[in-house]
Amino acid sequence: MEMVAVLEQKSHKKESADGCGRETLCKGSELRIIRNIGIVAHIDAGKTTTTERILFYAGRIHKMGEVHDGTTVMDWMEQEKERGITITSAATTCFWRNHKINIIDTPGHVDFTVEVERSLRVLDGAIGVFCAVGGVQPQSETVWHQAERYHVPRIAYINKMDRVGADFDRVVSEIRNRLGSNAIPLQLPWGTEESFCGIVDLVKLKAVKFDENSLGVNLLVSEIPSELASKAEEARAKLVELVAENDESVLSAYMQSPDVPAEILMQGIRRAVTANKMVPVMCGSSLKNKGVQQLLDAVVDYLPSPLDISIVEGVNPKTGEKVTREAGDSTATSAIVFKLVSDSYVGRLAFTRVYSGHLRKGQNIYNTRLRKRERIGRLFQLHADSREEIDELSSGEIGAIVGLKEVTTGDTLCSENALIELEKMRFPEPVMFMAIEPKTRADKDKLDAALQSLASEDPTCIVRTDPETGQTVMSGMGELHLDILKDRMQREFNVVAVTGRPMVAYYETVTATGRGECRFDREIGGKRQFAHVVVEVGPAVRSAGNSIEIDVSTNLIPGDFIKDVESGLNDGIITGVLGRYPMTDLSVRVIGGGFDAEFSSDMAFRTAALMAFREAAKVACPEFLEPIMLLEIVTGSEHMGDVLGDLNSRRGHIKEMVARGNRQIIKVEVPLAELFGYSTVIRSLTSGCATYTMEPEEFKLVPKSVRDKLLNS
Ligand code: GDP
Ligand code: MG
Repeated sequence: MEMVAVLEQKSHKKESADGCGRETLCKGSELRIIRNIGIVAHIDAGKTTTTERILFYAGRIHKMGEVHDGTTVMDWMEQEKERGITITSAATTCFWRNHKINIIDTPGHVDFTVEVERSLRVLDGAIGVFCAVGGVQPQSETVWHQAERYHVPRIAYINKMDRVGADFDRVVSEIRNRLGSNAIPLQLPWGTEESFCGIVDLVKLKAVKFDENSLGVNLLVSEIPSELASKAEEARAKLVELVAENDESVLSAYMQSPDVPAEILMQGIRRAVTANKMVPVMCGSSLKNKGVQQLLDAVVDYLPSPLDISIVEGVNPKTGEKVTREAGDSTATSAIVFKLVSDSYVGRLAFTRVYSGHLRKGQNIYNTRLRKRERIGRLFQLHADSREEIDELSSGEIGAIVGLKEVTTGDTLCSENALIELEKMRFPEPVMFMAIEPKTRADKDKLDAALQSLASEDPTCIVRTDPETGQTVMSGMGELHLDILKDRMQREFNVVAVTGRPMVAYYETVTATGRGECRFDREIGGKRQFAHVVVEVGPAVRSAGNSIEIDVSTNLIPGDFIKDVESGLNDGIITGVLGRYPMTDLSVRVIGGGFDAEFSSDMAFRTAALMAFREAAKVACPEFLEPIMLLEIVTGSEHMGDVLGDLNSRRGHIKEMVARGNRQIIKVEVPLAELFGYSTVIRSLTSGCATYTMEPEEFKLVPKSVRDKLLNS
């Protein structure tokens, strides 16, 4: 083969190092040069390494960090470095071919799926990273489907082509079959495992190698090597056919000649990808500095800009009517706060994505949930742990606001004269909790402040205090999550807390409708106290949460006492009626009552509401709910019997079993309560050959045997 080596300098260090003019590049009308993307994957597939390489090639960092050395820029929280995993999504910005790419790194550990969920809510496109050996792993499947739910167009990147056992074709077919997506390779690997040296570009019909001395910055472009020529020809034909099926311009070009020019093909791919009709597949080895620059090219060429999602939908919070905004700087502002982070220097940062109009420093902006205006103190653009102060955040951009005191995750910010509320995010319910108290009395206020701050940042960390016993309980998505929250309390807030054992987060609910009444009439401290409340409690749809409706005239319960009635009902909801677990999925209605102009008081109404609620809930057939986890276990066929037998004794409910080679994959639902110590058990059952992942699935009513145990504990 004739090797015509063309040296191509692809680095864009210069442009970004000298600032690459925000001003020149990113004025709102230039929305088409923005890419808001996320990188999602199963843990260990190589997200962090790939992100580091992206930042390196784009000139954002000048030295490559490695995950195992704890030197990467993106994993910046201390705990992440120690544990080698990514917990908080860090947003960062870089430039490639004069495009501005905002990247949100997302964590892979299941305890933190909420982080993935919130980044997907504000992304325009995503890169799914797969391991060339592991293929489509359980979590890649979860995240992929989450992305589907938010209609986020994706590129698949098959990483680790250098590893022993790497198999490009198998992973492509897994992406097609197991993820049900219209995946089609835009590249072929040149060599595999140790001999993986470059890629064949099926769009431009060129081969590319990576110059090792420049850490892959310089590319060696040549003709396609003869041994790959026929395979490349076949793959190119398939690619063209698939794009033609999904795009009319490519179809008409194809009718004239099957050799569709690269330019036309690329435009067609872009349209098909942004319309979620196809998923282009790329490959490389991030660790060995191969293929990442082509991945960046694909982000620019095929993933949508905010303009491709030109109409933002929402509702008018006053009327409930559907309203829309056009993306762009000249329309009224709409933005969503997707994450809060406390920072010891500047205070609380509210990560925000602007959908239309812009946000300006010093401006007042309306919060639809709070129904009031708050002032934007300062604005920042973020790069992992450093930041740059800016004056304006335009349509399509992502940045952080400082100065909004009461904002929480999921809030919509908009112009007060053009109200719009954007679609909210969904968060799973915590599945575990632990009791927490200050080490010394003097630490109590500090602990309360720390808990409040952590809970406001993280929608899956919920803190409750039992109004009667005063015990505080912190709940989260798993042992690791709780452990990290406790760790952060010590490091960031300097409070030492004493915690109980992590326990399964049971809830209570009702399965029928019941009515309760309390006529509170007592003499306390020589003064008569009076209040009368009638409550009805019934079941709501599973995961709907609780709703409280006050359906009684102000002649019976005057407006001033309504908040006390609500406090009393909430006291009852938090403390439950069976085993002091919080209650959920209730529909609570206050349907009657009475007051006395002279003797009614706040305290009397709060107590009467609590007692009426308890009476109603007790007759409404209360039951316990427990968290159910979905496990995916991969084991050798020879251990199947033992693994299944053990699952059976753990109240496991098998959902699916498939064979892949000589491995068996078991999908099974198991109550979390039965899973303590499971990793040790499965290791000994299979002599260490099995692996598994788990994620929260749903809450279900417990069977009678468990109910009896919980009642007697
Ligand atoms: P994440 O959990 O998805 O963020 O994955 P990391 O980037 O932390 O990578 C997990 C492990 O795989 C680390 O030890 C990396 O050094 C390694 N790794 C990442 N990319 C490659 C690759 O292309 N080839 C090989 N052989 N190893 C890789
Ligand atoms: Mg990582």
